[in-house]
Amino acid sequence: MKLFFLLMLFFWTAQPAHSMEMPTLSLHGQIRQGEMLFGHVAPESKVTLNGEQISPRSDGWFAFGIGRNDTDPLVFNIEQGDRKATYSFQIEPREWRVQRVDGLPQNTVTPSPEEEQRIADEMVLTQNARQKSIDMELPLCFSMPAKGRISSIYGSQRILNGVPKTPHNALDIANKEGTLITAPADGIVLLVHEDMFLSGKTVLIGHGQNVVTSYIHMSKIAVKEGQQIKKGDEIGRIGMTGRATGPHLHWVVSWKMKRVDPQVFLKNSEKFCSVQAKGPASVSQKAKR
Ligand SMILES: [Zn+2]
Repeated sequence: MKLFFLLMLFFWTAQPAHSMEMPTLSLHGQIRQGEMLFGHVAPESKVTLNGEQISPRSDGWFAFGIGRNDTDPLVFNIEQGDRKATYSFQIEPREWRVQRVDGLPQNTVTPSPEEEQRIADEMVLTQNARQKSIDMELPLCFSMPAKGRISSIYGSQRILNGVPKTPHNALDIANKEGTLITAPADGIVLLVHEDMFLSGKTVLIGHGQNVVTSYIHMSKIAVKEGQQIKKGDEIGRIGMTGRATGPHLHWVVSWKMKRVDPQVFLKNSEKFCSVQAKGPASVSQKAKR
């Protein structure tokens, strides 16, 4: 009986004592590997995630991503005026497919030292572009950038010509060479490269809040670095430049340095496309302390 009473007391105090006064946090999406979710806080709240600052939109919405292999809990600190709260969440693991691709030119699978250097240099270019901070409010509604068949999904463990490689951290949309690629949302062109060893003709677009989308293997690029683009504007055309066995768009969606699942991101973004969500009433998951 005494224990029961103590437990009761514990559960009471585990709840926010004055929940009306606690800074709120709502999440829209599943907290699992490879996911990019939307969160909402009261406007002008300060938000950090695992110690790194997040800058929500003026209406309180923000995006954040979870890497394919992330396992550490997510810890949010929210400051709303002089009130503070900490919310933490466990990341749900996902299972990934194994995908074998054979018949690739052997030098793209096991490159020479010279080619390895080129790959490393080009990786630095894209990493630097991803980290450019741009001053725009993150759009919430994203759409597919091209029509076509999904030929490879996010997360698969790849075995190229029999050699295990890094997982496929993108979505492949296959269609014939010259198929139109359009901006999935407003943004600013962060990088244009005409000839990367692995990715061929490559474009990176920043959308604000460290959300970046990348367009790889294109046959033609229609934008310039620094250009502001609107949702639906042409970015280029589908091709098979760089390492590709057929014409397709290799589409990367990233948050900071984490590449996330584009299909899941689009699903989470979808509800913002019909009605512009205004607040936490429309989100699927309320944070628990
Ligand atoms: Zn791909």
